Amino acid sequence: MCSLESLKIDLKGLKQGVNTLCYSLDDAFFEALASAEITHGEVAVTLTINRIEDIFEVHCHAEGAVIVPCDLCLDDMQQPITVDDEFVVKFGEETSEEDDLVVVAEDEGILDIAWHLYESIALAVPIRHVHEPGKCNPAMIEKLREHSAARSDEETPEEIDPRWAALKKLKIE
Ligand SMILES: [Zn+2]
Repeated sequence: MCSLESLKIDLKGLKQGVNTLCYSLDDAFFEALASAEITHGEVAVTLTINRIEDIFEVHCHAEGAVIVPCDLCLDDMQQPITVDDEFVVKFGEETSEEDDLVVVAEDEGILDIAWHLYESIALAVPIRHVHEPGKCNPAMIEKLREHSAARSDEETPEEIDPRWAALKKLKIE
């Protein structure tokens, strides 16, 4: 049982036991978060919230892809991501979040899941993300090659054919 719901969850409106909420996050979601680094993507999210009295055990599963700049050529690339995380929500005096415990102001009773989802998705992007081999922007790769070739002329290459090394020595002397 899964229907599309708002990202502001009315906790008091949830039934006791398991509640399942589904979201399709698209560009509009990422663009709506003003300071987000990821601005495009398509991610399907399933939230399972187990309510026991006024304690809410939340399991979040997200799967999809986001658009981020490639580390090598800087062109946009599609990065597949999967998220699985769990946290507990309870009511308190004011809203706060610490590790796996989220406190929601009891008089409001609203859990706003937007930033939590965004952060989990952003964390799921590997530190190094590059296009598949051969898919990088060829012009940029050519420039990088020229750059690294120029650099290795200045530095002494670590491994060099001993015959060339001997020739190089001759040239210098
Ligand atoms: Zn690339």
